Order: sequence, then structure tokens, then C-alpha cells
Amino acid sequence: MIAGGGPAGACAAIHLSVRGARVLLAEQKRFPREKLCGEFISPECLEHFARLGCEERMLSAGGARLLETVFYARGGGRVSVPSEWFGSGGATALGLSRAEMDAQLLERAREAGVSVLEESHASGLLMDNGRVRGVQLKNGSGGVQDIHSLVTIDATGRTRALARRVEKQGLENHPARKRPARLVAFKAHLEGARAAEGNCEIYFYRGGYGGLSMVEGGLSNLCFIASARDVRACGNEPEKVLREVVFKNRRAAWTLEHARAASPWLAVSLEGFGRRGLVPADGLLAAGDAASFIDPFTGSGMLMALESGELAAQAILKHLPALRDGAGFEKLSGEYRTRYKERFQSRLRACAALRRAAFVPRLAEIMIFMVGASDRVRRRLARATRR
Ligand SMILES: Cc1cc2nc3c(=O)[nH]c(=O)nc-3n(C[C@H](O)[C@H](O)[C@H](O)COP(=O)(O)OP(=O)(O)OC[C@H]3O[C@@H](n4cnc5c(N)ncnc54)[C@H](O)[C@@H]3O)c2cc1C
Repeated sequence: MIAGGGPAGACAAIHLSVRGARVLLAEQKRFPREKLCGEFISPECLEHFARLGCEERMLSAGGARLLETVFYARGGGRVSVPSEWFGSGGATALGLSRAEMDAQLLERAREAGVSVLEESHASGLLMDNGRVRGVQLKNGSGGVQDIHSLVTIDATGRTRALARRVEKQGLENHPARKRPARLVAFKAHLEGARAAEGNCEIYFYRGGYGGLSMVEGGLSNLCFIASARDVRACGNEPEKVLREVVFKNRRAAWTLEHARAASPWLAVSLEGFGRRGLVPADGLLAAGDAASFIDPFTGSGMLMALESGELAAQAILKHLPALRDGAGFEKLSGEYRTRYKERFQSRLRACAALRRAAFVPRLAEIMIFMVGASDRVRRRLARATRR
């Protein structure tokens, strides 16, 4: 049983199903749906799409090929990173809306034999002696259904809907105080931006950064993060935050001068970044953002979602015979933890360090100046966000 139909959930579901496992995936929304994201699909994701059997349909969905990412300091200093430095053998990145990408992945999951339930909200866990045995689903018309499962994957993104339920139970006697979110992210599709074709542009400014790249339909996707304090000072108005905060970056002001939103603005609060619990309880694994939320400007959150979905599927498939005999979860979860750590630990550290620098404009300027001088340093830094 998998809760969440984003890249982590769909990827795990496809890998499991094509290798003979019976999989049910519950997604609370009806696809296609908009999603707040930079919509920069890094080149390595295309290798995953190939393994999942959906590369062709992703490439022919009308998205834009992105050949390089250009990082702009406030005053206009820039440094660029070619997409071909990532992935194997000269691949480009892809600019494609999440509405389209996620719908394509979910369609592929259906074709692969996954039972997909949309508008099905995973609202509770079925527990037996501290072990998760499945979930309770609520459908759009209020109906409730119990789904029993040998293993459950929480792929509900940053909400970690299932993992949080387990943590809540543990905290009943020691309630944790929720910290207010320090950052807010906004996104809209724009027309009339002066985006250079084939480029993803990243703008740094005090307290945050933003990214602009082409997607399908001749539109650009603008996604930016600002401090909650600045957002409040702008009356929570995305267009005002854009003008008063993001436009402090000279390149952003020029590129977006005549741009207009062609879709409603989406906004979310960001509580924090980094590792969360991988195995919140016996019988429950977390994948994608539910396992770790990597700093967005490195553009690899979707990649981590696909990779961790695949790792979770591999661990489950290896131990499925033992699970069917009522054992095996301990070995499965141990293996998932080990392989996850090997794959992501240093990447998460590198991205956290880069983000800290990015949020301090003076530091970002110095870094852009220093890194821009050497191809070798730029390439090593770029690779560090993936290793
Ligand atoms: C500001 C910002 C910019 C970003 N830009 C990029 C970028 O340019 N490139 C990149 O690679 N990554 C980017 N990311 C990261 C990327 O969006 C995530 O890493 C990725 O979406 C994680 O995929 P996921 O499948 O884990 O979760 P999600 O994509 O969040 O999918 C989770 C799914 O679970 C569903 N769900 C939630 N709760 C329930 C429930 N109780 N029951 C059933 N379903 C449920 C949701 O509806 C959703 O469809 C960005 C993130 C942010 C915040």
C-alpha cells in the first residue's frame, strides 16, 4: 500500500508492480493537479523515466529542454552550470509542469498494473501491536475503507501524513511545540518573461532565492522562496513580494519586468529541510520528501523522490517472500536505511551548506565570484549536490 501519487509514490509503485507485487496507490487529489515546484527536472530523472518505461511520453509532453542553469547574485554577477554535467552522457534537463509530469507517471503506474485510487485520502493507520498493517482511506464522498497491507509506504511529501500519525502517538505525553515556518514559497506560470531559451535562471536576494525556467505552452514557471517576515510585511501578496523582495536582484527585475501571472499563485510555508524518519514504525517506510526534504535550489528533490522510491521498492521486493511468511521487516528496513544513507548522506550535507551560503547575499556574491573563476571547482560543487 502506498499513500501519495507524486514521483516517490508512483515510482515505487511501478517498480513493485512490474516485478509482480500487488500494489494499491492512494492519492488524495485528482490528477492533473498543479503543484508548487520549480519544475526543473534534472537530467538524471530522465534515466529513471527510461527505467520506469515513460521516458518517451515525458519527452514528448511539450516541455522545454534546459541546457544550463545560471545563478545570479543580486548585483548581476553570474555563474552557469551546464545540464550535461549531470547524468550520464550529455543529457539535458527538462522544464515540464508538475501537473503534466505527475499525471504521466500515474498513468504509467496504472498501465503497469497498479490499482490507483484518486481522491482517496489516507486518514489513519491500521495498527496491531505497534506494527502498521495498512491504512484507512477516505474517499471524496466521505466513504471510509480499511486497506490491509504487508508494507506501507508514506510517500505523502512534506506533509508526511502517515509518519506524523505515528509520531503524534509517541508525543501524546510530551507534546512538541510546533515552530512557526520561517520561509514561504510561491509559484505561478508566467507569460511575457524575458527568459533566455534553454536556461534555468536562479536569483539570490536577502532571505531567499527564486528560479525561472520555461515549461510547456510557451509559459515560464517562476518559483521563489522568501522569509516569512518579508512576506508578512508585503501583506502576504505574492506580486508585492516579487516586486519588493525578488526584484532586489537586478537580473530578476529585468527578466520579469513585463511578466504577468497566467495561473493562480500557489503558496506554501516551509518548516525546514533535511532528514526525517525513514522507518517511522514497523511495517511503514517513508520515501521522497516524507523521508528527507532537500534544499530546492539544487534542483534535485524530484530526483531524490525517484531514487528513494526505487530503493524502497528494491528492499521490499527482496524481502517479500519473508514478509508473506509474517517476518522480514527488520531486515528490509535495515537494508533500506543502509542504502539510503550510502546514497544520500553526503548530498544532503553539501546541499545544506550551499543553501546557508545562498541565503546570505554577500556570501552568495563572493561564492559566485570565486566559483565562476574555475570550471573544475564549479563542476565539483555541482557534482557534490548529487553524490
Ligand atoms: C519551492 C520548491 C521548489 C522546488 N523546485 C524543485 C525543482 O525545480 N526540481 C526538483 O527536482 N525538485 C524541486 N522541489 C522539490 C520537489 O517538489 C519534491 O522533492 C518532490 O515533489 C517530492 O516528491 P514526493 O513524491 O516525495 O512528494 P510530492 O510530490 O509532494 O507528492 C506527494 C503526494 O501525496 C499526496 N498526499 C498528501 N497527503 C496525502 C494523504 N494523506 N493521502 C493520500 N495522498 C496524499 C499529495 O496530494 C501529493 O500528490 C521543490 C520544492 C519546493 C518546496
